[in-house]
Amino acid sequence: MSETESPQARISDIFQCRRCGHCCHGETTVSLDREDQERMVAALGMSRQEVSDRYWRITGNTVQMKIVDGHCIFYSENEGCTVHEGRPWRCAQWPLHPSILLDEANFTAIRTSCPGISRELEYDTFCAILQRLQEEHRRLTF
Ligand code: SF4
Ligand code: SF4
Repeated sequence: MSETESPQARISDIFQCRRCGHCCHGETTVSLDREDQERMVAALGMSRQEVSDRYWRITGNTVQMKIVDGHCIFYSENEGCTVHEGRPWRCAQWPLHPSILLDEANFTAIRTSCPGISRELEYDTFCAILQRLQEEHRRLTF
C-alpha cells in the first residue's frame, strides 16, 4: 500500500453480530418487496401460495412475516434466521441502516437496540467508515 492509500474499510470495524436475536423479535417484521418475496419463495422451494399461507402476514399491499411467540416465524433460538438465503433485504442490511448517516439520534437508537455495533467509536468516525463501506458496496448487506 502506498502512503497516500488509506486501508480498506471493514464491516467488522463498526459491526460484529452477537447473534442475540433482538432484531428478529417484536410484534411486526420488516415488509417484503416483490424481489424479497420471490427470493424467499425460491429459497424455501415451495409454491408462492404455500409460502404465503404458512409464513406471511398480508395487510392490504403490505407483506410481512408472521410473528410467533414474539418473534419472526423464521427465527430459531438455536439456529438464528432459518431462511438466511431468502431473508428480506432489509434484514440483510440491518443494523447499518442509511438513516444512521442522517441523524445521530438514529445512530443512538439503533446502537441501543443492537449490541453488535461498536461501542468504542464516536458518531463521526462511525459514519466515515459506514460511508466508505457504502461507496465500496452497491448494497451493503451481511
Ligand atoms: S440485534 Fe444486532 S447483534 Fe443482535 S442479532 Fe440483530 S444484528 Fe446481530
Ligand atoms: S427473516 Fe430472518 S433475519 Fe429477518 S426477522 Fe426473520 S428471522 Fe430475523
